[in-house]
Amino acid sequence: MKPFILPRWRFTNCCGHNWGHPTEPAPGAAGATRREFFKTAAVTAAGLAALASEVKSAAAQVRVFPPPPPAVSPIEGLIDFHTHCAPDAFGRAVDDDESAQAYMVRKAEAVVLKNHVALTADRAWLARKHNPGIKAFGGVCLNGPAGGVNPEAVQWMWRMQGGFGRVVWLPTFDADNHVKHFKDAPEGVKVVGADGKALPAVREVLKVCAQQKLVVCTGHASPAEALAIIEAARDAGCDRIVVTHAEFEVVNMTVEQMKKAASMGAKLEIDALGVLMGPQAHLPFMRHWRHVSYKESAGHIKEIGAQNFVLGTDLGQTGNPSQPDGYAMLVSGLMAEGISREQIVTMGREVAGKLLMG
Ligand SMILES: [Zn+2]
Ligand SMILES: [Zn+2]
Repeated sequence: MKPFILPRWRFTNCCGHNWGHPTEPAPGAAGATRREFFKTAAVTAAGLAALASEVKSAAAQVRVFPPPPPAVSPIEGLIDFHTHCAPDAFGRAVDDDESAQAYMVRKAEAVVLKNHVALTADRAWLARKHNPGIKAFGGVCLNGPAGGVNPEAVQWMWRMQGGFGRVVWLPTFDADNHVKHFKDAPEGVKVVGADGKALPAVREVLKVCAQQKLVVCTGHASPAEALAIIEAARDAGCDRIVVTHAEFEVVNMTVEQMKKAASMGAKLEIDALGVLMGPQAHLPFMRHWRHVSYKESAGHIKEIGAQNFVLGTDLGQTGNPSQPDGYAMLVSGLMAEGISREQIVTMGREVAGKLLMG
């Protein structure tokens, strides 16, 4: 058998870090001189002093209280279908346990642990053992480290102790579509042949997914590839299919393609990371990805129907909001654009719950 080797010009991805895009160090950050550090500290101190005098004069007039935090967690009972945690080969802000604990405090129901390079079926078992109260799920992502589209990797993933390995992601940053889109490598891991149909290895993987009722996620396949995978998945008998972050750069399905995918039984994943991306993003790697507004996502939900969507965050990167905060932002952002609480529960709990536990 040919060994899996993917020659690259450079490396980019959606949920990792800013590899290939060097950043300018911020003033006062590691590497700054002592003089620069004290200059920054002096400016900060002056700002605080000014703020204190403003607060004093405001207090002299009338005392204003902010509203208390909501009595009910906005993400109570919901499931985050897409999280990234440490340990990882990329910079992560929290580990599996820290994420699970933060979600438990907010009374979330479940989390799906995703990793581009390593198994998470085993980690889901440990996360549950350490944090009874949260339902953690994992799986395998069929990038290079798993051997590409490798049915053996899937066969051993679902056998992992506990049975919490429920998700199979087709290639993400090693996907042929991804590396060609970002010009990272001449070619990547293919999922369809020259005829546009799913490759035999993909069909083997789908067979295992059907037998074991695993969730098939399309990864970073193009819309046309994703539709071919969905068709093959249906042929194989899979009834749990998700178009990974359908609205993001690289995938970027049109409304018509989303409708087609939904009509074939696939669920479309909306993620909290989308609104943070775009040319104005605070982290350099996110500036290469299209901004997805709450208005746009709400429009998709209204047009295609909440029963065809699943919610996640795709968060966990160092420097981004925590997963529960990002999820709460997504929920309030969608509701501000006219999505009802009932629709949120459909997408964030019922659809995801059926995929993972139905
Ligand atoms: Zn992704
Ligand atoms: Zn991700």
